[in-house]
Amino acid sequence: MVALVDVHCHLDSDVFHDRFDDILAAARQAGVRKLITASIHPNQWEAVRTLAQRHEEVVFAQGIHPWYCADDALPELPRLETAARGAVAIGEIGLDTKKAPFPMERQISVFVAQLHTAQQCNLPVIMHCRGAFNEMLQLFKQHGPPPGGILHNFSGSPELADQFMAHGLAFSLGGVLTWRNSAKRNRLLRHIYPDHLLLETDAPDIPPVEARGRPNTPANILYNLRAAAELLGEPAEAVAAATTRNAQRIFGFTL
Ligand SMILES: [Zn+2]
Repeated sequence: MVALVDVHCHLDSDVFHDRFDDILAAARQAGVRKLITASIHPNQWEAVRTLAQRHEEVVFAQGIHPWYCADDALPELPRLETAARGAVAIGEIGLDTKKAPFPMERQISVFVAQLHTAQQCNLPVIMHCRGAFNEMLQLFKQHGPPPGGILHNFSGSPELADQFMAHGLAFSLGGVLTWRNSAKRNRLLRHIYPDHLLLETDAPDIPPVEARGRPNTPANILYNLRAAAELLGEPAEAVAAATTRNAQRIFGFTL
């Protein structure tokens, strides 16, 4: 039996609400021993903390996602440090030029404020980044890098990965692994394995191809593991062990 960590999911999502215990039981059955549930807006900060208090295998991350840095979220930023007590990370935070409905200027100020909170609390970060890798690296130069953490669903090249690894960061991949369609992603995978690869589901988003058409769940991490193992030409047990070891090192928990 493998021991896995889903380092990025959104368990407070409404789609899980009435079947939460079944979702967790299925995850346990699949070998998931720890799940990091990340908030995306201050109105979830209490909910993710409560989930973690109620379920031993759930831990939480607190942040404001670039898609949700709306007017009602900004005044809550000073509360992040308190909200992050007991959290394993600051997240989900980041920058997005492709989809976020807010201008880059606003995203950057919200991101930098949360970067500073991570530095102050000495917590790793869980980051979302689309189309803004260079901007993010520039901000690390200006404000200092976060104290460790991951870029989730990382879509950059191995060369870009090197620049983030130089800041002590790692990468989690999920459902996109099962698309098995990208030479660039395969090169990335080989480049970051074994020490900088982690596994995620981003449930309820990004289902693996094997489970398309319904909300993604943490148990589906097994498909992501299998795809990673296949693409790397490594035994699934070895990939599970490496990714779980990385998760424990980065987020500082034991299983
Ligand atoms: Zn997410």
